[in-house]
Amino acid sequence: MTISVTVWNEYRHEREHDEVAELYPEGIHGAIADALREADGDTGSEFEVRTATLDEPEHGLTEDVLAETDVLTWWGHAAHDEVADEVVERVREHVLDGMGLIALHSAHYSKIFTALMGTTCSLKWREAAETERLWVVEPSHPIAAGVDEYIEVPEAEMYGERFDVPQPETLVFNSWFEGGEVFRSGCCYTRGEGRVFYFRPGHETYPVYHQPEIRQVLRNAVAWAAPGEGASSATGNSDPVEPIDTDDDRSVH
Ligand code: ZN
Repeated sequence: MTISVTVWNEYRHEREHDEVAELYPEGIHGAIADALREADGDTGSEFEVRTATLDEPEHGLTEDVLAETDVLTWWGHAAHDEVADEVVERVREHVLDGMGLIALHSAHYSKIFTALMGTTCSLKWREAAETERLWVVEPSHPIAAGVDEYIEVPEAEMYGERFDVPQPETLVFNSWFEGGEVFRSGCCYTRGEGRVFYFRPGHETYPVYHQPEIRQVLRNAVAWAAPGEGASSATGNSDPVEPIDTDDDRSVH
């Protein structure tokens, strides 16, 4: 199966800070796109990858692009407010209609993620290059395929509970940080017909998206979030499937 992926990035830190540009010379979107392109059949899927960024017209997320997108990945941080509401609504409608969404790291505060969650999505944070261990708490889940008992990120920004999101339908990773906090760092949701995965790692001043285990999870997550064949569904006023016995209907007597 070929999955069409659009990797979206705010793409500001990389252009404004040398330190970030050195870590992500092709942008964070470039690193994520590479992680998907290096798929070797490990997820049973191949990825057709395009990228889109904030400063493109319509943020690169036109109706045509979204109509061709099976899964959208989202990285944003400093410019959430600059994302046009009209584009957010367009993305939301596509998710409800079956497009997968992977919200990464500081995308917890993106307009699209908070709209889909309906909560503040606030959390505790600290930037101190500390160790993070993402413990796999649902080892049979496809997003954890090929991962060891835990993934260790040597230098991470801390995100701590409480993370104000709805209870995940499935929690795949639970993080521990050197400073003592814990965090639900791999959360699965369904919204309408779309699958949504929040994945915590990915701060712009650490090389997290170059780490092989994290890249594996990105591939797994995109494969998981892609729309399947699905069942057909109908809504609205409906004729009965079986004839209804109206003899016992008191309203007609
Ligand atoms: Zn960060």
